[in-house]
Amino acid sequence: MAELQAKIAPRPCKHAIPRHLLQYSAHRGAATKQSAVTCQWGGKCPAIFNFQTFLMQPLCFTPLLRRYLWGGRRLATVLGKDLGPETAAESWELCDRHEDQSVVASGSLTGTTLGQLVRQRGPELLGRHAPQPRFPLLFKFIDARQALSVQVHPDDVRAALLQPPDLGKTEAWYVLAAEPGSVIYAGLKRGVDRAMLTREVARGTSDLCLNKFLAQPGDCYFVPAGLPHAIGAGVLVAEIQQSSDTTYRLFDFNRLGPDGQPRALHIEQALEAIDYNLTIAGPSPAKPLEQPQGERLVECEKFIFDRWTLTADTMLGEADRCHFLAVIEGSVAVACESGVLQGGLSDAGLNIVLGSGETVLLPAALGKVRVQPRGRAVLLDAYMP
Ligand SMILES: [Zn+2]
Repeated sequence: MAELQAKIAPRPCKHAIPRHLLQYSAHRGAATKQSAVTCQWGGKCPAIFNFQTFLMQPLCFTPLLRRYLWGGRRLATVLGKDLGPETAAESWELCDRHEDQSVVASGSLTGTTLGQLVRQRGPELLGRHAPQPRFPLLFKFIDARQALSVQVHPDDVRAALLQPPDLGKTEAWYVLAAEPGSVIYAGLKRGVDRAMLTREVARGTSDLCLNKFLAQPGDCYFVPAGLPHAIGAGVLVAEIQQSSDTTYRLFDFNRLGPDGQPRALHIEQALEAIDYNLTIAGPSPAKPLEQPQGERLVECEKFIFDRWTLTADTMLGEADRCHFLAVIEGSVAVACESGVLQGGLSDAGLNIVLGSGETVLLPAALGKVRVQPRGRAVLLDAYMP
């Protein structure tokens, strides 16, 4: 590198540096704030060489599978995950939690964990949201062949008091598929207070206190911390959530675990963590965005969750924050626009094709990418506000 830099000669060079990358140069000690550099090295221009060290590639991670007893086969049959012959309950597509790490699956960063990227390349990855101790969001697909337990998550204030401290968990589910008659449980029915819920919990019928909504593909449910909920049997969802582990089980439908024992409940903590003032009327209405292909499903202080229905090329991503895209229908090619990446310098992972069930993280330093649907494609887009 030093050798290469020593060879810089003051000759005109056409290699423009994309404007959106200039803001990161301070963090990387990179070349220059000029919009064009001077050199005679053509494709080996040191300025370009430096900018190659930026996180200028879409990042595809290897999914982390979770094989809980209530899972099914749809992560394979609907979303194309390689489950082997067994069932699986969850596919964690984006995760930076202790030993549970998303690992880059292709390109020059293969083998790097999301945690390493957050801690070592924070400004390039996260843009305006850097620095972070870890990636604040977690994205997963969930196949509930059986119902999940009725549960609630604490908010940030309560979770911070735990030993060790955790984040709270606000989440949102996007229903990808639902068997006829399958339901989503969310929120307490009108008039249910703590005393009434405590009585029903003692009788083993606390599910009767929750609203039940018919699960319909395309519906999105916003589940803030403190709202009791359960995904019913037969529902396949995509979930965006705060990266938190803290779940209090209120009721497990009187089931037994794999060891023949009922799974542990956390009734006191659950009753305490429930916000009895929270209500939910049903799925969140999708609101149109300025770009007609886009709709906003959820906007809260933890994340924004949009849906894109594409029939023509569309620019997605942003120069100052990272976006996480999940293809849920059809397939797309993701192409980087930057001129710097042309001329034989592009990384193998720079132009990628994603089918239904595949996901990609777009680092802030990458800026906008061109998403080209093959025919019609639907994507979910999750990012921090
Ligand atoms: Zn939950």
